Amino acid sequence: MSVLIVGSTALDSIKTPKAENPRLLGGSASHAAVAASFFGPVKLIGVVGEDFPKRYIQIYKRHRIDLEGLQILPGKTFHWSGEYEANMNNRRTLLTELGVFETFTPTLLNSHQNASFVLLANIAPSLQIHVLDQMQRPKFVVADTMDLWLNIALPDLLKLVKRLDAFVLNDSEAHQLTKEGNVFSALKKIHKLGPKYVIIKKGSHGSLLSGPQGIFICPAFPLHKVVDPTGAGDSFVGGMIGYLATADGPIERNMRRAMVYGSVVASFCCEGFGLTSTTRINRKQIDQRVRALERLTRF
Ligand code: AMP
Repeated sequence: MSVLIVGSTALDSIKTPKAENPRLLGGSASHAAVAASFFGPVKLIGVVGEDFPKRYIQIYKRHRIDLEGLQILPGKTFHWSGEYEANMNNRRTLLTELGVFETFTPTLLNSHQNASFVLLANIAPSLQIHVLDQMQRPKFVVADTMDLWLNIALPDLLKLVKRLDAFVLNDSEAHQLTKEGNVFSALKKIHKLGPKYVIIKKGSHGSLLSGPQGIFICPAFPLHKVVDPTGAGDSFVGGMIGYLATADGPIERNMRRAMVYGSVVASFCCEGFGLTSTTRINRKQIDQRVRALERLTRF
């Protein structure tokens, strides 16, 4: 079953204490789509400007990502720039230029509307709602977000969250949304907003799932060297939905393993700038790391 992904398709300029890389292929949908592509077919909904390098289109194509829903419009591609502190966890946004995303209101093709698995990757909640409104009868809808939308578009975000099967956010966003210092109390409060599954990402400390089967503590793969964590959250949710869409059996039974797969793809993402590491791996390497994580966490 294919996965439909909408989100940002961007040029990312990233600065770490060790290096600086301008205008890399980035965006929440790019990271998520490449991550999901290791498991099955992916359809991408996004927009880029005429300045978007052709070699980046080739990267999507090499991952067999369906680009029928990727518009190329006159104007500039969404450009985001961020800088990491020495700990590689704290990040400061230096610049966000929406470009062609400012007026993007996609009309979905029939073949997109009947997708069973939908990932509303990080982008304005109004756009996530616009896409969800056009879906026919999806089996599973998950959305990711960021602090910006909690700050400037909370009413829209709450409207969206009500309609989701799963909502993914990081620990500081969960705290901001619920005003709860305790992460388990925050999970409970977020369930009350609608979603059956709530996933809280905790960066290099892994993630937490809360759902009908209770709590699951998902480990992060231990990395000795983080080159650039940009897109790790998007790779996590992309890998997770990619696995879910292709796994046999009911979603409830596959959720935990799906998160572990997401966690592993995210670990590869952190080992290179932008998408450089993620685009070099294969399914076999992903499976190997999943087995290593199983050994590390069994007791
Ligand atoms: P993450 O590191 O998982 O938080 O995701 C980083 C990605 O989010 C980068 O590739 C950015 O292009 C993208 N991004 C940053 N700001 C925004 C925004 N306001 N809307 C959508 N995507 C964004």
